[in-house]
Amino acid sequence: MNSFSELNLNKQILNALDEAGYEKPTPIQEKAIPQVLSGQDILGIAQTGTGKTAAFLLPILMKIKYAQGDQPRVLILEPTRELAIQVEKECEKYCKYLDIRFLAVYGGVGPKTQIEEVEKGLDIVIATPGRLMDLYRNLTLSLNSLQVMIIDEADRMMQMGFLPQIHQLLEVIPRKRQNLLFSATMPPPVKELTAEFLEFPVEIEVTPQATPAETVKQIQFQVPNLKTKINLLEKLLKDEIYSKVIVFTRSKSTADNVFKYLERKVEGNIRVIHSNKGQNSRINAINQFKEGEVRVLVSTDVTARGIDVAKVSHVINFDVPIQYEDYVHRIGRTGRAFHTGEAISLVNEAEQYHIRKIEELIRMSIEVVDLPEGLDISPTPKEEAIQIARQIDHQKRKEDPTFKGAFQEKKKRPSKNSKSFNKGGNKSKRKKR
Ligand code: ADP
Ligand code: MG
Repeated sequence: MNSFSELNLNKQILNALDEAGYEKPTPIQEKAIPQVLSGQDILGIAQTGTGKTAAFLLPILMKIKYAQGDQPRVLILEPTRELAIQVEKECEKYCKYLDIRFLAVYGGVGPKTQIEEVEKGLDIVIATPGRLMDLYRNLTLSLNSLQVMIIDEADRMMQMGFLPQIHQLLEVIPRKRQNLLFSATMPPPVKELTAEFLEFPVEIEVTPQATPAETVKQIQFQVPNLKTKINLLEKLLKDEIYSKVIVFTRSKSTADNVFKYLERKVEGNIRVIHSNKGQNSRINAINQFKEGEVRVLVSTDVTARGIDVAKVSHVINFDVPIQYEDYVHRIGRTGRAFHTGEAISLVNEAEQYHIRKIEELIRMSIEVVDLPEGLDISPTPKEEAIQIARQIDHQKRKEDPTFKGAFQEKKKRPSKNSKSFNKGGNKSKRKKR
């Protein structure tokens, strides 16, 4: 399809798209828009950066037409505050010539302004689940008039952390409604849960779930230890082609440490973002990065999903995500909207296992590239070597339960008092991820 005009959108929307510089619909837009217009429930799967937001927003704007009543008719759920804000901005772009009221509500900031805005009346509410339910419970926001519910990043929203809130929500919104679920990833066990949200859905799979964006070149470096990863990162960032970079880490503390190191050693502005940072600092960091004032953004997986920054040159996985879908989302921060980008993973010996699992998930192999010449390869400290060996043992045991590794799990001896507190005192608890 060569033009949006074939999609039964009105003139106001077509003008807005024209001004946004959109020339033709992406495959998910081409396929989803007619189905949403016809009232179907939809499960839409398409790669990162291929315009899923417009795929649900444009037909929704067509359907609700203009401002009406005070209560929202459309709810869009997003997993993070940054995404809620981003989708609000997209909405603004497409609504330029429409009389439609929309608002993002999210936590981390005081509710006062959001309450005042909701009270003015709105047509579309874009929300993170926690704040949405708060505004519902304190009677600021009525959900009785909802006609459409959209769950963006749907597989994420159906994970443990969000599911209880989503269930509470389902109990209070009208049963008769249209439901749209979108994501780039949808692990089969999570997909089963979608039955609860969708009625006779049309499944639109532009590519199988977890297909990385074609526009992203993926490579990996095999690196012996943490210090060498730092050396490598520093060396890479000496090159100016690394113009707009996101460095992902699994933990907040690694993010902070990498940030502190780079801030001292690398040209250009660096920011760090994770869930312990205040909301204003998070939003400022993203905005400055979007505007090109920040060269390197160091981040945990809070920004792995959905965040749309134009022309990110490189994504660097300082460590390998162990929630494998996150790999697809992390690298999908580059190569968006017809641009290209590069994703580089720094992989130690224990992480090679996870890279193999990721390669299975994405059904492709990630090219191993030689370490650059002159890289300072630091020796592995004893403790780190033990930790890596333990992880490898653990992985081997997982694959083969009869495997006897060098590091048998030590049986914890119950401490003297533990029994009085807890009968199963020596049972080690599995950490929730
Ligand atoms: P996804 O949700 O699939 O990851 P987004 O909806 O965030 O992708 O869109 C990625 C980028 O592509 C955004 O900047 C968006 O404005 C832009 N975009 C969306 N559709 C088109 C289009 N048809 N032509 C050009 N750019 C588009
Ligand atoms: Mg998206």
